[in-house]
Amino acid sequence: MTLAAKPNLAGMSLAQLRDYFHSLGEKPFRAAQVLKWIHQRGVIDIQAMTDISKPLRDRLSAEAEILLPKIVEDYASEDGSYKWIIEVASGSRVEMVYIPESGRGTLCISSQAGCTLDCSFCATGKQGFNSNLTVAEIIGQLWWANKRLGGFDSLAERPVSNVVMMGMGEPLLNFEPVMDALSLMMEDCAYGLSKRKVTISTSGVVPAIDRLKDFTDASIAVSLHAPNDELRSQLVPINKKYPIAMLLNSVKGYMASLNDKRVPVIEYTLIAGVNDHRRHARELAELLREFPCKINIIPFNPFSMSDYRRPSSTSITNFRQILQQAGYTVTVRTTRADDIGAACGQLVGNVADQTKRSSRHLAKRAENIIAASSDSARATESA
Ligand code: SAH
Ligand code: SF4
Repeated sequence: MTLAAKPNLAGMSLAQLRDYFHSLGEKPFRAAQVLKWIHQRGVIDIQAMTDISKPLRDRLSAEAEILLPKIVEDYASEDGSYKWIIEVASGSRVEMVYIPESGRGTLCISSQAGCTLDCSFCATGKQGFNSNLTVAEIIGQLWWANKRLGGFDSLAERPVSNVVMMGMGEPLLNFEPVMDALSLMMEDCAYGLSKRKVTISTSGVVPAIDRLKDFTDASIAVSLHAPNDELRSQLVPINKKYPIAMLLNSVKGYMASLNDKRVPVIEYTLIAGVNDHRRHARELAELLREFPCKINIIPFNPFSMSDYRRPSSTSITNFRQILQQAGYTVTVRTTRADDIGAACGQLVGNVADQTKRSSRHLAKRAENIIAASSDSARATESA
């Protein structure tokens, strides 16, 4: 006989905790008390929750648990950023990154161990997919960042002001847990982050974007990376299923539901010789003419399984200028934390039981290296 798992209080939204206390015959306000202990004071020992009666603490200790993922590795970058690796229940290791900037601190968190989508320029995609993270594993990243950075010492001076779901995985393919974790991030009696400062980044899972408005009002970033379907389908394979027009239309619907002045961020990973030509910038400006947005250019960050190259600073500047001259607000993401392998798209963790994708890639890369070295051997011979 297998024992049913105890409910994990660290993975419950306010609504779920209220239901849980209701099912115990307790008052719903207990939910806010427990959330404050876990997410505002960093306390995960039920017996230390002193505003809860001793009999209820004993009952909770017996019937429930508070489980968060473990941090198994940590790295500090010379630029002040941190990367922490957590181990999740499936045995995989996933990464989160903290980036301090003047006036804000951004935590980039993961939603999956690996990713099924295999975008051609992304290290996470190259390692295949292992598992969806649970709510506790997603919110646990924010909990740990606060723990490590002193965020539970003072509510007024929390080091993490912004969260971006731009770590490993496609958040909208792990929909319900991500939605519950987002609600904890924005919940006043948990982390209380503003909806403007919590961003979901998606490669374009259109049916999920269509559902989003019923679950959250977080900000959104769309990983576009190309100005036309032919090129985008090569870089972001999910485009074959949900092409650009369908994607932009779906994002428009979500923005309309927010009923405020926010606009989505269009992310464009700029890759030398692939999507960084002036004509691509002009085509992008034309494509987005009727689509209010900001554009964020992310210069490609190299990793060992990719033959793509980072664009030159001239090509980044030219690309940006064309878009700015067309009237767009454009930012270029500065590369941070690449000394600890934590720049955008370099996050790999260690995906247990991955698909064969990364070994296929390694084999292909090995073939290329062999071909290239025999070419150079021939070149040396004939010199
Ligand atoms: N799956 C989601 C969120 C995680 S990827 C998405 O695709 O949006 C987060 C961002 O990192 C995306 O915009 C992605 O395109 C970018 N990225 C991935 N690999 C990169 C690389 N090697 N260099 C620069 N940016 C990269
Ligand atoms: Fe997955 Fe995003 Fe990487 Fe694409 S860019 S493989 S969707 S994590």
